[in-house]
Parts: sequence; C-alpha cells; structure tokens
Amino acid sequence: MLASDFSRGAAEVASIKNHGADWVHLDVMDGAFVPNISFGPVVIESLRKHSDLPFDTHLMIERPERYIADFAAAGSDYLTIHYEGNVHLDRTLNLIKEHRVKAGISIVPSTPVDALKEILHLVDLVLVMSVNPGFGGQKMIPSTLKKITRLKDLREECGYTYLISVDGGVNLDTVSSIIEAGVDVAVTGSAFFGAEDRTRFVQRMKGLP
Ligand code: ZN
Repeated sequence: MLASDFSRGAAEVASIKNHGADWVHLDVMDGAFVPNISFGPVVIESLRKHSDLPFDTHLMIERPERYIADFAAAGSDYLTIHYEGNVHLDRTLNLIKEHRVKAGISIVPSTPVDALKEILHLVDLVLVMSVNPGFGGQKMIPSTLKKITRLKDLREECGYTYLISVDGGVNLDTVSSIIEAGVDVAVTGSAFFGAEDRTRFVQRMKGLP
C-alpha cells in the first residue's frame, strides 16, 4: 500500500483483489527505525473495511511490542517485526500470537539468516528485505537470493512451516529469480500501483499466460 494513492485509499486497497493479487502488504514506518513516516493502526483499520484479503502488516518501528495490540485490533492477519534493534524477540513474537495474529520476523540486507536460528520455530513468516528499508522504488540487493535458499533449506532440515517473503525491488525483471530461489510471497509496491495494466501485471508476476 505504501506506493498507492492514499487520497483514494479505499479504491486502491480494493484494486489489489480486483486485479488478482492475494495479500495486502502494509509498511508501517515510525521515522526512527527507518527515516520515513508512513501510517499507523488508524489507517489500517479504515482500509480493512474495503478488502477481505489477508492484511500483512510490516512493522518498521522501534519497540514494536508497544503497539502489537493496536495493530492486531486494526485487523492485521500477519504482524511482522524486525530482528534488528529488538532484544526480546521471543517475547514479542509470542505476544503477537496471543492476539491470534500470525507472527513474522524480518531482516534487513546486512543481517544474515542464521541470526534467526533461535526463533525460526516460532514464526509463520520470514520477510527478507531485499533493499534497505524506508523508501519505495529501490533496486533489489543480489544477496537476497542466497538468503531465500538458506531459509528454504533450514525449513526443510528442521521441519518448520514459515512462509518465505521478499520485500523490495520485486518486479517483472526480478520475480523469476526469487521464485527459483524458493520464495512463497512476493511483495510489490510501485511495480503494481504504477503498472499500466494491473491485472496483466499480476498475471505476469504469477507466470500465468
Ligand atoms: Zn514491507
């Protein structure tokens, strides 16, 4: 949603389903964890009324434990927090689950997948940031592909069940490489909202004829 036209929020969020995409991804930024400020639970709650797709809320905020209840109540289906800067991840991930919301963990490009080993059994989603978070419209950092494959191997080895998601620089040029690497969920922003034909864009992203 970060790349959508917020003056037309209801229509934009509805257009995600209407054009054949499967999830709504919401980038929450606090101006501290990342330089930008985006939106909070009030906006998510108001968008919630206009879509029945899963709401995938990505919290790029400091001390996310303060706001888990609010973002859960706003209608998030997934709440994804960052590994970086958050000490008590085990506690915060369990707090998310207590609110009956699926728990996700995200890493920025400089964080290795293996840093997550102690919490992977707790999560429903691992979100690999393929750009440095904070702005839309950036190019994908190449080490992303190795991280996806590593997550896939760990899931297989250990019998975990998380989905692997990629966020940043995902478009028609990069989608086949991330699918090949083993991604389950591809997040697009400007590539979707800026597409001339959004339906065709989603079909091509999914590899449909
Ligand atoms: Zn995101």
